Amino acid sequence: MKPMGPIPPWFGAEEGMLLIGGCGAASLVDEAGDTPLFVYDMGIVEATVRRLRDAMPHQLGIHYAIKANPYVPLLARMTGLVDGFDVASGGEAARALEAGMPADRISFAGPGKRDDELRFAIESGVTLNLESEGEGARAIAIANRVGKTPRLAVRVNPDFDLRGSGMRMGGGAKPFGVDAERAAALARAMVDAGADWRGWHIFAGSQALDPAAIIETQAATIALAARLSDAVGQAPPLVNLGGGFGVPYFPGDERLDIRPIGAALDSALEHRPDILKDSHFALELGRWLVAEAGVYLTRVVDVKQSQGETFVVVDGGLHHQLAASGNFGTVVRRNYPLAIANRFDTAAPAPDPVTVVGCLCTPLDRLGDKVALPPATPGDLIAIFLAGAYGASASPAAFLGHSPPRELLIG
Ligand SMILES: *Cc1c(COP(=O)(O)O)cnc(C)c1O
Repeated sequence: MKPMGPIPPWFGAEEGMLLIGGCGAASLVDEAGDTPLFVYDMGIVEATVRRLRDAMPHQLGIHYAIKANPYVPLLARMTGLVDGFDVASGGEAARALEAGMPADRISFAGPGKRDDELRFAIESGVTLNLESEGEGARAIAIANRVGKTPRLAVRVNPDFDLRGSGMRMGGGAKPFGVDAERAAALARAMVDAGADWRGWHIFAGSQALDPAAIIETQAATIALAARLSDAVGQAPPLVNLGGGFGVPYFPGDERLDIRPIGAALDSALEHRPDILKDSHFALELGRWLVAEAGVYLTRVVDVKQSQGETFVVVDGGLHHQLAASGNFGTVVRRNYPLAIANRFDTAAPAPDPVTVVGCLCTPLDRLGDKVALPPATPGDLIAIFLAGAYGASASPAAFLGHSPPRELLIG
């Protein structure tokens, strides 16, 4: 048997049925029409944002990196909950605007922005987080052509990274941002070219579960922003501190304690260098805001034996929830938390572990490897937790021609 990650603390059961936002999983499937289905509980997202605001300094802006979950009804609700959206493509910028987020609260990062994306951002008033000198020059040329003052921030490739982060985004050679030693010169050139310089974007990593590592990175980020601003000779309107807050996906992972992070940030902001005294500060978080709010529900199609092993075959798979199969940014495959939704309060698992596989004809499509579950039969619903981030939009839905997943926002 192999262990699973911890089920987030938001879910209960009624007569054996998993409750999501107080609704039974089977009735949610009925409401959506069929499986496979992603359910997102807005009540969990709201509680999560509240917890964050309670823990963080009151002046800190909370931005949502919409690539974690760009489902339109969810974005529309997020617009009223957070202070800004961070987008990573022209398509996401359009979605953010459609969701009602004002352009001056949207920033656009990404290493390969095309001219038409730069133009769209400049014309709509979205801030571009510049990833290179070349992109800065293109943005200025396009802005001159369309007769608009571009809103430009500089994304910095910091000279440090977020310790213990699942995905390193800074430190060393990177395709993201401009190396710290060249960032001030780029900002200066943009100011001199007449741009509306918005400040710094410094994102050092993702999926960290150690508060000390995040505290250390935020302190280094503030110090770097001050050093660069001194070199530019101008105060940055905004310092985007990045994010990196992780969620516990795997056995042994513990929930990130955000209170010490908030306390340390409060003190770091209080003692910040003079050049930053009028600057705004923001965190940009993706998965931490939405991952726990999502459950992927998929139905058991077949239960079969092979050489003494039991395989539970479901109608979903990695084409919808790639991350749970271990093929999205993890080196070693480990089990996400999962359960039989219609036997959620059955304490006794089957005596032998089972392997839950998706319906794709590839050995990669493994959603639960040798896990302890109650006995499963065709028709049962399997729930895979932590499906609110990097699920539907981060999975190869076109692979093998199965139907796309359904999505449902509740709460
Ligand atoms: C992906 C990304 C995020 C969100 O990361 P999470 O781990 O989901 O919080 C934030 N900022 C940038 C620049 C990103 O590329």
